[in-house]
Amino acid sequence: MASAALVELDELAVVFDFGRGVATRLAELGVRQNEIEHVVLSHFHPDHFSDLIPYLHGGLYSQIDPRTTDLNVYGPPGLEDLGEKVLDLAGFAELEEELRPFAVHLHEIDNAKLTIDGRDFVYTDLPPAGNHGLKFDVEGAICALTGDSHFHEQEIEFLRGVDLGVIDSGHLEKEEIIELAVATEAGRLVCSHLYQELDEVELNARAREAGYEGKLLIGYDFMSLKLGNLG
Ligand SMILES: [Zn+2]
Repeated sequence: MASAALVELDELAVVFDFGRGVATRLAELGVRQNEIEHVVLSHFHPDHFSDLIPYLHGGLYSQIDPRTTDLNVYGPPGLEDLGEKVLDLAGFAELEEELRPFAVHLHEIDNAKLTIDGRDFVYTDLPPAGNHGLKFDVEGAICALTGDSHFHEQEIEFLRGVDLGVIDSGHLEKEEIIELAVATEAGRLVCSHLYQELDEVELNARAREAGYEGKLLIGYDFMSLKLGNLG
């Protein structure tokens, strides 16, 4: 399961990470190309950005869902180099600049506050090197999304006390997921980007035994969560 989350905040839509299958999933959701103007990448492993290639290619050439609005992509240093390669592969190099129906703006950021359409986000460096998480609030409810999660102090700090955390569980042992839940006291933790089978009932039972009072959820494609009304 590739990494991606579609964040919808009133009129603003942001896609965090763009791994394999995301272009297809967005189309299946009925999200039109022009509805997505902002993509944030946690880091540059292919399972976090590779579907930008078919997505942008579709935006250039699809007659069903052509893109006419510019796309902003935010990511760590190195984004401009990687972005140029992605754009070449997506077909930009074959089109003269004035014939391109839209432009892609690449924004290199690192450990910074990020304002998109007047909304504040925090983009935080999380080990291993190059990896990042994105945090924002909705009417006082805090949501944190991680790239590849690993078990370390910075990850705990990043997730501490959040109402909703979405963590990559492919690089974590079950024990570490439980420890992370206990240490962060996150209200809800979604185990996403799965490279292993997890049993939600068993995981929650073990987490409760360890003292966790929140809830662990196993992510799946099209899972939808509302912030501020998690009940
Ligand atoms: Zn990954």
